[in-house]
Amino acid sequence: MLNIVLFGPPGAGKGTQSQFIIDTFGLKHLSTGDMLRAELASGSELGARVRSIMDAGQLVSDEIVIELIAKRLDSNPEAAGFIFDGFPRTVAQAEALDHLLTEKHTAIGHMISLRVPEEELVKRLVKRGEESGRSDDNEETIRRRITEYNTKTLPVAEYYRAQDKLKEIEGVGEIEEISRRISSLLDRAV
Ligand code: AMP
Repeated sequence: MLNIVLFGPPGAGKGTQSQFIIDTFGLKHLSTGDMLRAELASGSELGARVRSIMDAGQLVSDEIVIELIAKRLDSNPEAAGFIFDGFPRTVAQAEALDHLLTEKHTAIGHMISLRVPEEELVKRLVKRGEESGRSDDNEETIRRRITEYNTKTLPVAEYYRAQDKLKEIEGVGEIEEISRRISSLLDRAV
């Protein structure tokens, strides 16, 4: 199994590059942001609980996202591997993920971290907000999400560095060029 964590701040291009990795390597995409937005859209009780947290640009609780991921791992026993997009975002989530994967006799192979300067992130997300209408893509919430990333999520990179799994990639440039960087890294690594 090939299991990859695609890592980086909001607006780094994780969703875009996930699509490339899925198409190229046939992995199952698990995005906790997408799962949570589906909960909001369905009007579920869980959606109602997380709406104000997401709108404020804060992280929802570890318990909620770990539960969502655990369910998806269980419901995809035939997957050739998984790409985790926007998860884990805290060290507690990373530890829980290791535990869940160990139970399935597998592990994370690589964390690919996309590096993008903060002002470029804000520019990209403001533009995405104008085009998609995503309610958390407004400048105030974007800055809050970047602060959450810097304080709670960055330590996750150190967690994987300690396991010798962290691969850093320049996330600025043409989309295809960044995909090529990821591809050559995985071709060498798998
Ligand atoms: P994303 O689409 O990955 O940018 O996620 C959008 C929002 O969903 C985040 O700002 C958080 O409020 C919430 N979220 C997504 N994934 C997680 C996670 N792994 N842990 C906590 N909150 C998350």
